[in-house]
This record gives sequence, structure tokens and C-alpha cells, in this order.
Amino acid sequence: MLHRPIYMDCNATTPLDERVLAAMLPYFTEHFGNPASTTHAYGWAAAAAVARSREILAAAIHASPDEIIFTSGATEANNLAIKGVAEAYFAKGRHLITLQTEHSAVLDPYEYLRSLGFEITLLPVQADGLVDLPTLEQAIRPDTILVSVMAANNEIGVLQPLAAIGALCHRHQVLFHTDAAQAIAKIPLDVQAMQIDLMSLTAHKVYGPKGIGALYVRRRNPRVQLAAQLHGGGHERGWRSGTLPTPQIVGLAKAVELGLAELESEAQRLEGLRDQLWRSLQVLDGLYLNGHPLQRLPGNLNFSIAGVDGQALLLGLQPLVAVSSGAACSSAKIAPSHVLKALGHSDELAYASLRLGLGRFNTQEEIDQVAQAIVATVQSLQRLPDTVNINPAMNAASTLL
Ligand SMILES: *Cc1c(COP(=O)(O)O)cnc(C)c1O
Repeated sequence: MLHRPIYMDCNATTPLDERVLAAMLPYFTEHFGNPASTTHAYGWAAAAAVARSREILAAAIHASPDEIIFTSGATEANNLAIKGVAEAYFAKGRHLITLQTEHSAVLDPYEYLRSLGFEITLLPVQADGLVDLPTLEQAIRPDTILVSVMAANNEIGVLQPLAAIGALCHRHQVLFHTDAAQAIAKIPLDVQAMQIDLMSLTAHKVYGPKGIGALYVRRRNPRVQLAAQLHGGGHERGWRSGTLPTPQIVGLAKAVELGLAELESEAQRLEGLRDQLWRSLQVLDGLYLNGHPLQRLPGNLNFSIAGVDGQALLLGLQPLVAVSSGAACSSAKIAPSHVLKALGHSDELAYASLRLGLGRFNTQEEIDQVAQAIVATVQSLQRLPDTVNINPAMNAASTLL
């Protein structure tokens, strides 16, 4: 049998955990009912599974079940949160804030709102990818209605200081939304302690199925208003119409439940593997870590190698390793990553990046193989006569994780 590539692209998506699949299967067949059918046992079984899943998900983030709205994923949850708040708070103000390093599922709804006449502020980040809190505070105006800052960055894994941002937003009576697609069940999330008003989730970054996610919407202190973006049968208290996909919802809850149960041990294991991989790469010239060395997701490693083209490196790693350069969503367009550009990188250094997303199913042996392959490929590329010369300043910056 042919060997499949080693999968190390878990920030793009993760494989489905078999335990999640097993939990979902009965809801495709035996319990196929519509959770909204109240007149028979098929509907009741589906409704009970949805209710249980809602409770699991709410408990996972310290919310209550009536604060969870199921969506098709984090893209839809972000759209509902951002456009829904903009429409509902239109009379209060028309200014919204976010970061330059956000996912396009936040940036594009913001741009859309701008086209409708809202004012948006895209804040820069520091060189390590973290938001500067005084800069954020200064950007808040009397007519600001929403601040959206992601929990964990999908490219560089940087973890933003959610509790500090939440406190700041509430001090100024501005709603705080966070896109937690990369963070759920990977780092602890607590909507009370962190004063989060809206939070977007998705299943497929945490070993669950694609096509399901959720939006947490705070109901108390303050009670968040939202304008629905999908109209129809009035599901999810009118905020998101559409028949609830029971198997997907069960899968989302199971994935989050498993992730939470194993959160600490898995974080430790992934950090260990990731740091070991990073140490193995230190023999290379021009290595540069992208993003804060410690404030980052346990399995994420993103680096640039001055003078080495990321596309050439990806090609050289084929077919052994499945990784990506820049964000998966934008790597179809050959443009330097907007996240790396926001860190202050030149186009050249942004092009020279590789993102490794380690996950639950990666082994020690795979880490060794990938490290060897990267070192060999980079060294052969650096030996090419037309290689652009390495910026010596970058050598000093190869911080150990
Ligand atoms: C993957 C991802 C999304 C999109 O989530 P979908 O569920 O695929 O729509 C949004 N934001 C971030 C940070 C992501 O990593």
C-alpha cells in the first residue's frame, strides 16, 4: 500500500476522531427524526440529543444552554455575530473594531459593513502578533458597538489576552466577540471570567465533523441583541432558521467533550513534540519564528526561513508531509499572508513561511521524519546558486519555544 502523507495541517482542519463518528452514526439512521417534530418519538429522540449536546457545549465554555445557537460553522457564526450586532445596534453607533490578523471570516463581514456605511477600525498587532491593549482602548469611541478579537490565530497560533480585552470592552460598554474556531477545547475558555459576549465555534478544527459550529450569545449582563441573518422556520429562537442537523450537533458536542477531557495532557504532549521539532530545525540558517514564542496554541509552529521560498519548500516536502504555507484559505491566491505582513514582515519573509499544525494523531516518529525532511529540503534549496542571500539579522531571532 502507498504511504499517505504525514498530516501536519491541523490548523486547516483535523481528521474526525473515531469516537466522534461512533457517537454520530445512530443519528443518521435509527434516530433520524426532525428535532422540531413534537408529535412523535422520532422527533423527541432527536430533540433530546440536541438538548444534551447544547448542555455539553454550554458547560464547556461556562455558558447556559439557551445562549448557544447552532450554525454551519465558524464562518456563519462570525457573520451572524458581526452583521447581527451591527444591524441590532445601528441606532447606538456605527463603529466596529477588529485586528488586521483576523480570519477572512471576520475581515470580510467587516469590509461588507464598511460598504454599507459603517466605520471600521482594523488595528495593527505587535511584532509577536499580540494586540496592544492601550492601542485597543484608544480606538474605542462613544459610537463603538463591537470589538472582535480572535482567541487563537489560525496561521501563527498566537493567543490573544481574552480576559483583559473582555474587561476593557465591558468598562467601555462595548460588546466583545471572539472567533474561537482554533481555541475551543484546546485552551480553557470561560465566557464569564473572560467577559465574552459572543463567541464563534466550529467542530472540524477539534476532530469533529465539518459543517457544524455554534455562536454563543450572552443573555445576561448584558443581554445581547442580534438581528437574524437567515430567516425561515424560526429555529434557534428565531436567530438562525434551518432544520437542526442532529448528527452534526452530536458530533460537535462529542468532539468538544473529548477535547476538554484530554485538554491538559494533550497540550503538554503537543507542546513537547512541537518544541522538539523546533529544536531540530535550529541547524538551519535564517530561521525565524513567526508569532509569540509562548503565547500560542500547543500544536502550532509557524516559521520563515530567509531566502527560501515557501512554495519551493512545500514542493520539496511532497509527498511525505501535508503542511501549508500561509493560510490554507488564501494559499490558492499566491499572495503573501496578511497575518505575516501585519507582523511587519517583508513580502519575501512572508513568502518564506511554513505552517505546521500538530494534532492528536501525530506521533514522535512522524515528528522526527518531518524534521529531517525539512532540514534536508531547506539545505538543498539554500545550496541552489540563485538563492537570495540570507539576512544575517534574522539568525539571532530564532527564539527557542
Ligand atoms: C477555520 C476557521 C474559521 C472558519 O470556520 P468554518 O467552520 O470552516 O467556517 C474561522 N475562523 C478561524 C480562526 C478559523 O481557524
